[in-house]
Amino acid sequence: MQVLSVASEVYPLVKTGGLADVAGALPLALKGHGVSVKTLMPGYPAVMGTIRNATLRMSFESLLGAKADVLEVEHQGLDLLILDSPTFFDRPGGPYADAAGKDHVDNWRRFAALSKAGAVIAQGGMAEGKTGWEPDIVHLHDWQSAMVSAYMRYAAEPEIPSLITIHNIAFQGRFGADIFPYLELPPHALDIDGIEYFGGVGYLKAGLQTSSAISTVSPSYAEEILTPEFGMGLEGLLAYRAADLHGIVNGIDPDIWNPATDRAVQSNYTAATLKARAENKQAVAERFRLDQDEGPLFCVVSRLTWQKGMDILAEAVDDLVALGARLAVLGSGDKVLEDAFHAAATRHPGRVSVLSAYDEPLSHLMQAGCDAIIIPSRFEPCGLTQLYGLRYGCIPVVARTGGLNDTVIDANPAALAARTATGVSFGPVTAESLRRALRRAVRLYSEPKVWTQMQKQGMKSDVSWEKSAGLYAGLFQNLLARKGS
Ligand code: ADP
Repeated sequence: MQVLSVASEVYPLVKTGGLADVAGALPLALKGHGVSVKTLMPGYPAVMGTIRNATLRMSFESLLGAKADVLEVEHQGLDLLILDSPTFFDRPGGPYADAAGKDHVDNWRRFAALSKAGAVIAQGGMAEGKTGWEPDIVHLHDWQSAMVSAYMRYAAEPEIPSLITIHNIAFQGRFGADIFPYLELPPHALDIDGIEYFGGVGYLKAGLQTSSAISTVSPSYAEEILTPEFGMGLEGLLAYRAADLHGIVNGIDPDIWNPATDRAVQSNYTAATLKARAENKQAVAERFRLDQDEGPLFCVVSRLTWQKGMDILAEAVDDLVALGARLAVLGSGDKVLEDAFHAAATRHPGRVSVLSAYDEPLSHLMQAGCDAIIIPSRFEPCGLTQLYGLRYGCIPVVARTGGLNDTVIDANPAALAARTATGVSFGPVTAESLRRALRRAVRLYSEPKVWTQMQKQGMKSDVSWEKSAGLYAGLFQNLLARKGS
């Protein structure tokens, strides 16, 4: 089966979030399931400066008003189609914003162009000639490529089946109706059944409306976004399409995140040699200038934001210290929350410490040395740090939401008796509920046999892409079968 994936960022070339991880890892994992993927992405400077020996595959004289070429290149096992259009993509800054963090004013046109190119390729634009290629399915990611299915819907050529994956429903690509005349769509596309959204144009809405199926990055989040609390205005449309809505959790790279070989870790270990974690724990305490003792060491590796529930952790931190625990926080974010954690560190020298930095190697060492990682998110479509925690024997203490709910098994009496527990989960997301979860975690830590059993169970969890790739492949098969029936 041939799949065209259209994404605005792809790891390792360009990354601002989890979407890049999925767009970069899923094609590699799908190879083992008989699915080959070509990924269409914009030719940002970071991309054009990295790729070598690309082949010109097609040209647009005018793609929404600008010249554009499609170049094909292989890069680290990925088969990439690069949309090379200097007008749209050759500029400083990130994929969506300038160096000062201000969104590019023509994002509506840049990502409509990406989507239109995707639709043209999906509908046979590269089929001609000896090296011709035509996909069976098109896979879209978030609002930046959501318009592919809308462009297919309103084109003369037949549509092919499409799946749109929601990585972050908070970003919807909403623009005023004044852009509509420039999108090169027929007048009837600006309709409630098309791309119209609250009187303007909604790119994500258009994709959810016109794609054959919808997925998001965990089963729990797939249910949550049907409610006003999580759906951010799209819950009605999602409820209407509930029969076509799926949840598939993300995986992690088991080679990069492997405690047995990780070079960022002081002392490598496996589930059979967990005692070696002690050296890493010592190293973390040293890096954070925390006391060295036998008590539990908790950590946070996160953006310090309201979404991540960091305000309730700041409220509960005194109680955590009173339990004899230490806390190492790696992350930056909202000023008020940063200040709250720095104040806690001042109140509790040697017990609480904060590093406001983005430090990838340190994040590995923390997973390898801390006893538990606290993730009190208000919403979490999938989440990665709990998956790293599971693989590294760093027990996740998580809010019962989204992907956290789907990947961590709470240490309730039944799960402990069955030896299936892998973490501690709590709800609702309040300081009081988190305090209870932290008390529970400290109590479990005081029983080394139980704690070690949980660590080992977590390390056995399958957090690779393997299972999820199989689920995506199955979904693609179903879409093809549906088309044929
Ligand atoms: P989100 O994408 O919502 O921020 P995820 O849990 O899905 O949350 O992914 C966050 C990723 O960023 C993880 O890989 C985590 O380890 C990493 N990360 C977050 N903050 C830091 C930091 N300060 N230093 C190093 N890595 C960090």
